[in-house]
This record gives sequence, structure tokens and C-alpha cells, in this order.
Amino acid sequence: MRSFLKQRLMPGKFSPEPMTEDFTSLQVGALVSMARPVIHCPTCRRPGALERSSDGARRCVHIEGSVLHPDGMVVEPLDHCEFAGPRAATAQPYQS
Ligand SMILES: [Zn+2]
Repeated sequence: MRSFLKQRLMPGKFSPEPMTEDFTSLQVGALVSMARPVIHCPTCRRPGALERSSDGARRCVHIEGSVLHPDGMVVEPLDHCEFAGPRAATAQPYQS
């Protein structure tokens, strides 16, 4: 979903500042980049994007930063809650 992120870059205006995306103002049920659904965080009750990290843990990203590196876009969560998978699933309608 790199094209989604690139749309936000102003052509010809390179900025080393990370872009931030605040998911806490989005509607629950919306989809954000990389097809992540927005859920109510079971930990802090704010909306956030549900994603699975590489080690299998689930986390809810509330604010995400994107930095453009020479080899591509690097995205990292600036504000997120982590939670165990099975228990959190009962607190929200999204279930895969
Ligand atoms: Zn949270």
C-alpha cells in the first residue's frame, strides 16, 4: 500500500519530517493502509488500527509515523497498545 502513502507527499517537496497519521479520529470499522481495520482499543478505548506484529502479537496503533528512506517508506507506531490475541477478541466485533 505504498501508493496510498505516496499520495500524501507533495511532489517536489521532500521533507525529512516524519508524517504522522492519527487513527484516533477515525470511525470504527474504517480501513486504513495495509487493510487494517479501525477498532475500539480494548486497553484505552480510543479508536486505533488493529494489526498483527511479526511475532504474532496483536496491537492497536493510535498514531503512526511514516519516514521516507532511500529504500522505501518506513512506518512505525508512535502511540499504540499491545494486547494478547484471544482475550481481546471478545471486546470487539472484528474477528477473522
Ligand atoms: Zn489503546
